[in-house]
Amino acid sequence: MKARNHGVKALAASLLCTILLAGCARGPVERTWLSMGTFAAVSTSAADAARIDEAQAIVSSEFNRLEQLWSNYISTSEISRLNAGAGHSVAVSKETADLLRLAKEYSDGTGGCFDSTVGPLVRLWGIGASREFRIPSDEEITEALLQCGSDSIECDANTASLRIEGMAFDSGGIAKGLAVDICAEKLNGAGFVNHMVNLGGNMRCYGSGKNGGAWRVGVRNPFERDKIVGVLALTDGMAVATSGNYERFVTKDGKRYAHIIDPRTGRPVEGMAGVTVVAPTATQADALSTALFVAGVEERSAILSKYPDVEVIFVEDCKPIVLKVSAGIKKVLQVTDDVAVEIISRP
Ligand code: AMP
Ligand code: MG
Repeated sequence: MKARNHGVKALAASLLCTILLAGCARGPVERTWLSMGTFAAVSTSAADAARIDEAQAIVSSEFNRLEQLWSNYISTSEISRLNAGAGHSVAVSKETADLLRLAKEYSDGTGGCFDSTVGPLVRLWGIGASREFRIPSDEEITEALLQCGSDSIECDANTASLRIEGMAFDSGGIAKGLAVDICAEKLNGAGFVNHMVNLGGNMRCYGSGKNGGAWRVGVRNPFERDKIVGVLALTDGMAVATSGNYERFVTKDGKRYAHIIDPRTGRPVEGMAGVTVVAPTATQADALSTALFVAGVEERSAILSKYPDVEVIFVEDCKPIVLKVSAGIKKVLQVTDDVAVEIISRP
């Protein structure tokens, strides 16, 4: 969930944006608000326009409920209690057990590039915590790395524990995606057919958007935020997320530090501006965009080979922009005219 660190630039706008045609009689309708420290949105087709307030009520109350369970910034949340009780077993709800199980699963599936137990490192660097950014010593990093590792998360249906004292689960890389999936299912259950849920750029859509066509989502240019590099056309059940160094970062001595940590080195990732992932669920898109941000173009193959339904767009931290994309994304991505594209192989 979103950092509330004064030293970290928190931008309200998303890395992905819903493209709805204003004033179009048959276009979808949208409601936006703030939730979990970021912006939230729900859209429904024009046919369901009369029920948009109901859709917003369902999604916002669910986001609020999940924030109370998962936030690292709420001391009574189940995740905060888990962290405070590291080394001991604590009672958890089904949703929190699911969050922990999925986090562990994506850590395994990504060779540890995704690892929600980076909490001690996030704290050490002052990223995503209510402290000032600072560059720690090598010794401090080595020490903090000893308190990380998702294989030390123990979890069953209603209890969980972090095996190492001092361990800390950071929900920021996956919780928003899972919250979006849970809400999308709630809307399905309430009889909504065409809808899109968005929490801080983690999106999942069902049915169709404008005029019975795909839902259209703009991928922002990481260097010029009022521009987009392309538009994704998403259909039934598809999800998308972006991890970016331009969303939250700190600059020190002219160098930009991302809020995403490479769990293998204990240091903020360098060289990547943004990674967008299209996946079958918002949880998967969220976890894998973070993981592929860490892995980078060079080390993508081990991850992409495990997740054949996932497509990716890499934007490296250099100009001019060249989108490095997996071949399958061509089916859903329309690139802006002046942007270069290079197809990268999967394994
Ligand atoms: P996202 O914006 O989804 O890529 O998530 C980034 C957030 O997840 C950070 O602000 C941290 O709270 C947390 N995080 C940082 N590095 C990692 C990592 N390698 N794996 C999982 N979560 C991470
Ligand atoms: Mg993520």
